[in-house]
Amino acid sequence: MQYNRILLKLSGESLMGEQKYGIDTRCLESYARQIHEIAEMGIQIGIVIGGGNIFRGLSGTNKGFDRVKGDSMGMLATVINSLALSSALDNEGCKNKVLTAIRMEPIGEFYSKAKAMEYLKSGHVTIISGGTGNPYFTTDTASSLRAIEIEADAMFKGTRVDGIYTADPEKDPTATKFDKITYDEIYNRGLKVMDLTATTMCKENHLPIIVFNMDQPGNLKKVILGENIGTIVY
Ligand code: UDP
Repeated sequence: MQYNRILLKLSGESLMGEQKYGIDTRCLESYARQIHEIAEMGIQIGIVIGGGNIFRGLSGTNKGFDRVKGDSMGMLATVINSLALSSALDNEGCKNKVLTAIRMEPIGEFYSKAKAMEYLKSGHVTIISGGTGNPYFTTDTASSLRAIEIEADAMFKGTRVDGIYTADPEKDPTATKFDKITYDEIYNRGLKVMDLTATTMCKENHLPIIVFNMDQPGNLKKVILGENIGTIVY
């Protein structure tokens, strides 16, 4: 498959590196370098980042937070991570813009498809922050939504594992990796790749997902060049 425009999803947790909370700057630099590398190849890149390294609305409810307020905190956490990545991209000399799903100028411009397309086409890495802008959703769903909106060729889910396995490879040594898997197999096997809302959106809109290990420098470029290093969901 030839990629011209992609949506890269990074989880908030992956920004923690070896830490238990927050942002590991070495991790951020490594991601920025990999993103810059493919931007220089002329790939149009939209990015959605999670916020789980800072706050998740659902887990906040266990501590007594109201779910909707907690989700707002989670969405703001994605903006913090997006600004951190933007700054790392600036340091790399990689043109980029941060858009926000909730109005908060001058921190970032308010998201619209038209604005995102304008920046993507002018070669800016376009970070779309703030999730969907609504509570009770996840950034996986936000990624699927934005990928479909910007007419991406695929959604690239950069994780800390090298693809989708039959079971958790850290718990089950007999687990094997899929090179390819259908959306239906994900449902039928109950695999936790993304939440069901996100998976269904990708299925209904025929958006392929590539799950790969983003912590290995150079992997993002390899996937772009068509190397079969992760798992393709189709
Ligand atoms: N969130 C939300 N609506 C969205 C996206 C995210 O309310 O459209 C909130 C939700 O509380 C979520 C948190 O933001 O737990 C962080 O996002 P997520 O858990 O998806 O981050 P990740 O697991 O990718 O780090």
